[in-house]
Amino acid sequence: MTVAEIEKNIRNGIRMTKEEGVFLLRNAEILDLGALANEIRFKNNPKPYVTYVLDTNPNYTNVCTVDCIFCAFYRHPGEEGVYTRTVDYMMEKFKEAARNGTTTVLLQGGVNPDLPFEYYLELVERTVKEVPQIFPHFFSTSEILIMSKVSGFSVHTVLEKLWEKGLRSLPGGGAEILSDRVKKKISGKKGTSDDWIRVMRTAHRIGYKTTATMMYGHLEADEDIITHLDAVRALQDETGGFTAFIPWSFKPGNTPLEKIIPHYASPLRYLQMIALSRIYLDNFRHIQGSWFSEGKKIGQISLHFGADDFGGVLTEENVHASAKFVNKTSAEGCKMLIRESGFLPAQRNTLYDILNIDDVRKAV
Ligand code: SF4
Repeated sequence: MTVAEIEKNIRNGIRMTKEEGVFLLRNAEILDLGALANEIRFKNNPKPYVTYVLDTNPNYTNVCTVDCIFCAFYRHPGEEGVYTRTVDYMMEKFKEAARNGTTTVLLQGGVNPDLPFEYYLELVERTVKEVPQIFPHFFSTSEILIMSKVSGFSVHTVLEKLWEKGLRSLPGGGAEILSDRVKKKISGKKGTSDDWIRVMRTAHRIGYKTTATMMYGHLEADEDIITHLDAVRALQDETGGFTAFIPWSFKPGNTPLEKIIPHYASPLRYLQMIALSRIYLDNFRHIQGSWFSEGKKIGQISLHFGADDFGGVLTEENVHASAKFVNKTSAEGCKMLIRESGFLPAQRNTLYDILNIDDVRKAV
């Protein structure tokens, strides 16, 4: 096996195996990997534009009993600083976001066992009715699982009831690394890789679109990364329900895991993750690079390593902020970063449909 042989096979449309994935990760030159990923990016998305979304990422509760050791955001019930917002409070927040032009709300909590299922149903129903400008992109798999537990309904029924209220899209959070060897160490109470896959599969079969995410840069090995990519590729083959793949690196600040992993993964590692995702996930149209999670410069470079989407402007964000990692930009700033990278910015919605084609028109 050589890098050149693997790259030739990929260019001839032969799908990469897990073994080849690990080999490329360890042996390919980063610029070769990026060039191949960029080729595939333009095959899947031939237009020279990069999409972005006007979004915000508030939280309805920080109460959580799952104790992920990579998380600095949550508080135990009764601890100082805990909060759980009322539905009225969240509606005001969403209305304010809509007034500022936001189209997507990515809403997640902690995993709060004291909230009844009716709370989540009301959140969705009232968002759809009272703030129709907002597309709800609500609840990670962990929250779907706690809803199932507190209500006694199956995951399928929970998702059906949320669908009836108007939910159509779920964020991919909670996957971290789909390798139970690692999951046991970093989020032992969160459920297995199969739990994440099961919730996503059920959601896709009902008709939901979801993203798939990956958090790396902690206790995983190269093989775990490929196992993760392989699992989401297999589910995408089966359901076609994923809109995009979004890798990001572990942020150690204020987390229990900081004692073992005190540093961020390197920018080079991020570019490897973006490029390899683009190459391995041959059935994903969109790979998201991020100005937010890795810094503006590396975000810009990721657009030349296979990413075709730049994520959102994230007006509010609390999870990375709890880990002392803060990046800010505006819609104009986001567009500027895309232009500086040599692309045309195109505003999209949650489902990756283009909303604002003014810039795009110039390109076609
Ligand atoms: S990552 Fe989510 S589930 Fe894990 S401790 Fe933090 S809030 Fe809870």
